Amino acid sequence: MNKNFDFIMPSVNFFGAGVIEKIGKRAQMVNIHNALIITDSFLEKMPDGPVEQTINSLKQANINFSIYNEVEPNPKVRNIEAAKKVYLENDCDGIITVGGGSAHDTGKGTGIILTNGDDITKLAGIETLDNALPPLIAVNTTAGTGSELTRHCVITNEKTKLKFVVVSWRNVPLVSFNDPELMLNVPAKLTASTGLDTFVQAIEPYVSVNRNDITDGQCLQAIKLVEESLREAVANGHNLEARTKMVEAEMLGGMAFNNADLGYVHAMAHQLGGQYDAPHGVCCAILLPIVERFNIIASPERFADLAVAMGENIDGLSIREAADKAIDAMQQLNDDIGIPRSIKAIGAKPEDFELMAENALKDGNAFSNPRKATKAEIVELYQQAYDAE
Ligand code: NAD
Repeated sequence: MNKNFDFIMPSVNFFGAGVIEKIGKRAQMVNIHNALIITDSFLEKMPDGPVEQTINSLKQANINFSIYNEVEPNPKVRNIEAAKKVYLENDCDGIITVGGGSAHDTGKGTGIILTNGDDITKLAGIETLDNALPPLIAVNTTAGTGSELTRHCVITNEKTKLKFVVVSWRNVPLVSFNDPELMLNVPAKLTASTGLDTFVQAIEPYVSVNRNDITDGQCLQAIKLVEESLREAVANGHNLEARTKMVEAEMLGGMAFNNADLGYVHAMAHQLGGQYDAPHGVCCAILLPIVERFNIIASPERFADLAVAMGENIDGLSIREAADKAIDAMQQLNDDIGIPRSIKAIGAKPEDFELMAENALKDGNAFSNPRKATKAEIVELYQQAYDAE
């Protein structure tokens, strides 16, 4: 338990159905007069979608804008370099990201290379940024990564196929929007994978070596909200109450891992995402029960807490038995919402496991995992995730 910590919070988050209407006014308040909107072409073209609604509000506030619409999932260095070019060509004075984690991380990465030097790969690590980013507003459309309020910027180096993270308080967007109405049309499969990312981001900080009492409360409430709402959001995407609870869970998990960090699930998932360009939430979800079963012996009582937060009845069970129940409940949630059991589903190949294990142990998220693994043990965990049926 960490008793001596900095606690990083989003500066301002506007939350609730319909809040997107306010974005023009909020952009004025942070002195954006000529914005670069960073998004993808699917969201840009969506009728009455998040980009259209953002643009309508900007127009009402007389704010000019240009658009970079080529954000890729698992955003690449090429994305932020291209977005920087559009920003400079149009003399922009701020960035508005519209989308999920990929749009927000592209926006953060673009801001980083505008003010901290051209080569972002040299800035991987913790608190490597000397200069403030341009004003950044994040309009979030998935629940989700929490990137709209975190200090993390996750980018893939397309040359090495390695995902790396720039972690700095300077990355936290000045203003973020979480409007659950923007998420009502997220397809079931994407709701499931992004929702599981939220879930993992509440589990890993709860057992992290860097946890604290504040993040503990955030994690337990986030887990409860996911249990109450994720299955329903997948089954019935238009249920605003379920969508709202998932956004609340996403924000709580984001704040928790912003401060207590993550663990081997993320360290290993980043290798899968970089190597196979696979959806981040799916990578995390498949690995979750396997990695957490490995972690149990580091703090079985914490896993027993997780079982209770997930609504399991642990009366009459030993702590160890209750901890096992938590892992079973994680697998059940994956199965219920259609997450595959094996990383074969994302194209993983056993011949890559040695290198991925080596890189996972160097990933910034590895250091807060509660149980220390050898490279051979990480290879074995990948193998288990491959063999799972
Ligand atoms: P995403 O941003 O990659 O989006 C996935 C797809 O969903 C895109 O094709 C997009 O067009 C679509 N989409 C987004 N919103 C939609 C909506 N409202 N309706 C319909 N379709 C919609 O997915 P993500 O899971 O949000 O982000 C994943 C990325 O975030 C990964 O690169 C991951 O590593 C990163 N990440 C970042 C942080 C952080 O703190 N910076 C934390 C976790 C993960």
